[in-house]
Amino acid sequence: MLTIRREQSVFKMSPWNSPAAHASTGDAIVFETFDCYSNEITREDQIQPSSGWDRINPATGPLYVDGATPGDILRVEILDINLDSQGLMRVGPGSGALGHVLTEPKTKIIPIVDGKARFNDRLALEINPMIGVIGTAPEDEEIPTGTPGAHGGNMDCKRIGKGSAVFLPVNVPGALLAMGDVHALMGDGEVIVCGIEIAAQITVKVDVLKGLALPLPMVVAGSHVMTIASEVTLDQAAVTASEMMLQFIQQALNMDLQEAGMLLSIMGNLHICQIVDPLMTARMEFPLWILEAYGYRIN
Ligand code: CA
Ligand code: CA
Repeated sequence: MLTIRREQSVFKMSPWNSPAAHASTGDAIVFETFDCYSNEITREDQIQPSSGWDRINPATGPLYVDGATPGDILRVEILDINLDSQGLMRVGPGSGALGHVLTEPKTKIIPIVDGKARFNDRLALEINPMIGVIGTAPEDEEIPTGTPGAHGGNMDCKRIGKGSAVFLPVNVPGALLAMGDVHALMGDGEVIVCGIEIAAQITVKVDVLKGLALPLPMVVAGSHVMTIASEVTLDQAAVTASEMMLQFIQQALNMDLQEAGMLLSIMGNLHICQIVDPLMTARMEFPLWILEAYGYRIN
């Protein structure tokens, strides 16, 4: 299987990045990823990466998907996420939403044993591996990999795990897919600006979808479809994610706007993805069974 080594990583989602590899629609590819500190924190007495803060959130890639042209949708199915044997967390002054409280730095190495994160002697926590950064290149600008947006990026959505499918825009030929920032475990909000940060091997299948209109980025995970929005404020992110799902329901179920709004308001659940990145991210989740009841299938 095609493997993209973790050394082939970028710090910007950019239409000008050179492809690290090529694939065809339907192919499975392995992305080896660094942790979000470029694997540069290895000891608990280390409070920052060895080369400073310039190499944060590396994303492996980009992958050029042959045949993907602007206006298409790239469907990325997450087939598997294999984690390294240990992850880490790090807090300090300015850390996320609680950096005004967490004024002393601390680094914690967290071993992963038998599918559990050994937080301490008392707590072995069930892992839920997820991909923090996954996106395609924007059309005509460079966006740092630490920033989320319409192209995907640092959405920190904990529903992007094994078995999920992420739908991303194709803005440039080849789409230029890149990903990284895997977490062994993260709570909604990611309030101190890290999950259990960990290097990983992600296996995905890419498919180019043509002639399909979906509000992007979109994720299908478990029994739900979700729209994801990133905005300057969490309030606006919540509204945008809701608008995206409203439009989707209206079109997919061929309902009038009022009826679709009513259904969304009773069956849709709004969640916070993260409140610590340069833009805030929210998602609206809606049950797949309702789409199926109308004979609608995504892709
Ligand atoms: Ca992140
Ligand atoms: Ca992270």
